[in-house]
Amino acid sequence: MKYKYINWIIILVGTVLPIIIDTIADDYGSHDPFIWSITLIPSIIIIFKYPNWSVVIGTAIFYSLFELTIEFNQEGFTQFALDVITLVLGIIVNWSILLTVGYLRIKTEKLVRKVEEMTITDPLTGVYNRRYFDFYIEQAIPLSKRMSKSLILVMFDIDHFKRVNDTYGHLCGDYALKHITDVIKSNVREADVVIRMGGEEFAILLQETSLEEGSEIAERVREAVEESKFIYNKQQIPITISLGLTEYKSEKVEQFIEKTDQALYKAKSNGRNQLVVSSDSSNRFCFC
Ligand code: GH3
Ligand code: MG
Ligand code: MG
Repeated sequence: MKYKYINWIIILVGTVLPIIIDTIADDYGSHDPFIWSITLIPSIIIIFKYPNWSVVIGTAIFYSLFELTIEFNQEGFTQFALDVITLVLGIIVNWSILLTVGYLRIKTEKLVRKVEEMTITDPLTGVYNRRYFDFYIEQAIPLSKRMSKSLILVMFDIDHFKRVNDTYGHLCGDYALKHITDVIKSNVREADVVIRMGGEEFAILLQETSLEEGSEIAERVREAVEESKFIYNKQQIPITISLGLTEYKSEKVEQFIEKTDQALYKAKSNGRNQLVVSSDSSNRFCFC
């Protein structure tokens, strides 16, 4: 917070300083257009803050016009042709430095974004991974408390998935995981977060969703998986999931997850292919 404005102060100083030096130098009869290279400092800071080509080009154009406007309005602009050549050369040097810095900065930014994306995405299914779940829930819980908005966690696990692997092979299991994630994604809302927690266990976080709405969504997901056609090697393989659902009730994150896990366990022990809403959430178990 303390250093929040430091960049803007440097940008301001780096913009004003060459005008002051240039004016003082002119008063003493000395003329050095290369003093404008100081504007490279604010330009580079701006490019680092906003790494995209419009900003790079815009900044380069702005400082070139800025420099030309001030120089052409100065009285000491005597050896006109010579000064113009020196100014243009200075601008070319500045542009080549800014374009190089811009190119490297934009390339690095893309790389950083890609790596960030990779660290929170499950490579097989393309949905978020456990790391993102931990990050997301740490932010969603205080928000839910502050805004008094309901937060629903659904956890589900594929039924008898080991059998699928054992009967049709591990590759078929991998396709089944992809198939299920596609079905889930097309049955939840844009804002709902689907996560592969690990293995064949998934979670869905539903923000600003009531217990009833959450239960409807979870049940819709269950039905959609059951009714979906998963075909491998021209053979249709039936797939079902069991789900546990909990509404957040100001407990610790671990307890929130544990409660949902227990509801999921109950769904399994009740015979699978069903949704169980945690009793803590509704004071009843719902076998939808
Ligand atoms: P339940 O109905 O009780 O959940 O039975 P289950 O067979 O699904 O449960 P279990 O935990 O015994 O087996 C989970 C299986 O999921 C075992 C493991 O081989 C498989 N599995 C976990 N991750 C992957 C994966 O990335 N790809 C494939 N193909 N299989 C996976
Ligand atoms: Mg399973
Ligand atoms: Mg499992």
